[in-house]
Amino acid sequence: MIIIMEKTATEGNIQSVIDILQEHGFRAILHRGAVHTVIDALGDKTTLSTQRLEAMDGVGQVKLVREPFRLASRDRKSEDTVIEFENGVKIGGGNRPVLMVGPCSVEENYDGLLQVAVAAKEMGCQFLRGGAFKPRTSPYDFDGLGERGLELLAQAKKDTGLLIVTELMDSADLELVEKYVDVIQIGARNMQNFKLLKAVGHSNKPIILKRGPASTIREFLLAAEHIMYNGNEKVILCERGIRSFDSDYTRNVLDIAAIPVIKKYSHLPIIVDPSHGTGQRYLIEPMAKAGLVAGADGVMVEVHYNPSQALSDGKQSLSIPQFKEVFSRINNIIDVLHLEKTAPAPIE
Ligand code: PEP
Ligand code: MN
Repeated sequence: MIIIMEKTATEGNIQSVIDILQEHGFRAILHRGAVHTVIDALGDKTTLSTQRLEAMDGVGQVKLVREPFRLASRDRKSEDTVIEFENGVKIGGGNRPVLMVGPCSVEENYDGLLQVAVAAKEMGCQFLRGGAFKPRTSPYDFDGLGERGLELLAQAKKDTGLLIVTELMDSADLELVEKYVDVIQIGARNMQNFKLLKAVGHSNKPIILKRGPASTIREFLLAAEHIMYNGNEKVILCERGIRSFDSDYTRNVLDIAAIPVIKKYSHLPIIVDPSHGTGQRYLIEPMAKAGLVAGADGVMVEVHYNPSQALSDGKQSLSIPQFKEVFSRINNIIDVLHLEKTAPAPIE
């Protein structure tokens, strides 16, 4: 890291910074400029926090040369992480992007869930998603069927062979959720619930980590780092939109640029969720395509057998006929992108 001293820093201030750096095993190299003194600190940043240095008298700014996330960073691992499932499905590393669809919430009507799952299978999707434990903005809204919802998802897996994704909100439910599902989702609202991140860090299941609505990309990757630091390196990031000033036409601002940014700085796979990213049914197709063209390793979309009756997120859910139409075109885009990726290098 680099420590830029204030113009008014005294010799005593500079020496105190050098002393603390050396105490923590850093090599300190001093550069005296015409205006500022700058100290290059070479060493292991985890032993001394930037906040501690920033609080010292005479310190102007502390800048990190390397990204603060390590396990998630490309510097540590240059090749893409690929997450593989028992049935051979793979996420990341240039494999064909995966498709995850299903209702926002699992509801009591199993036939409705099965209709979605059967259509998903027909359209080449690999995953069925559905919430059994739902984070809701209002306490008066439907908050999921709990274990009954997990049982219905497990039944749909039996009937179709689709892999199951569901959200975990409370570490007390971890063992229960692990019994039923293939991928555990950490929702946007819990992206910085550090105890929950630690708990799933001890799980063997792959984790979909959704980007918090007010999180920077760096905070997003640091949240992934928490899971990895606790032992679970099977993290799939999910861009699902962030809050901004304009919510007249969309629920969130889907940050498409975050996808190639994350690909540059991290080896983890990233999928895109245009349903929560826009909140609008008609925007799912263009934004799913945009995400795929930007390099997403998969798409997550909400589909309901009867969106007008859905107990949550009906407005952004596709009906089954709409889903089939939209996904036939999404599959065409994936075919083209995948062909481009797997094509041999042009002959010189
Ligand atoms: C969901 O996937 O149903 C969900 C609640 O998503 P998010 O956490 O992105 O809002
Ligand atoms: Mn939803």
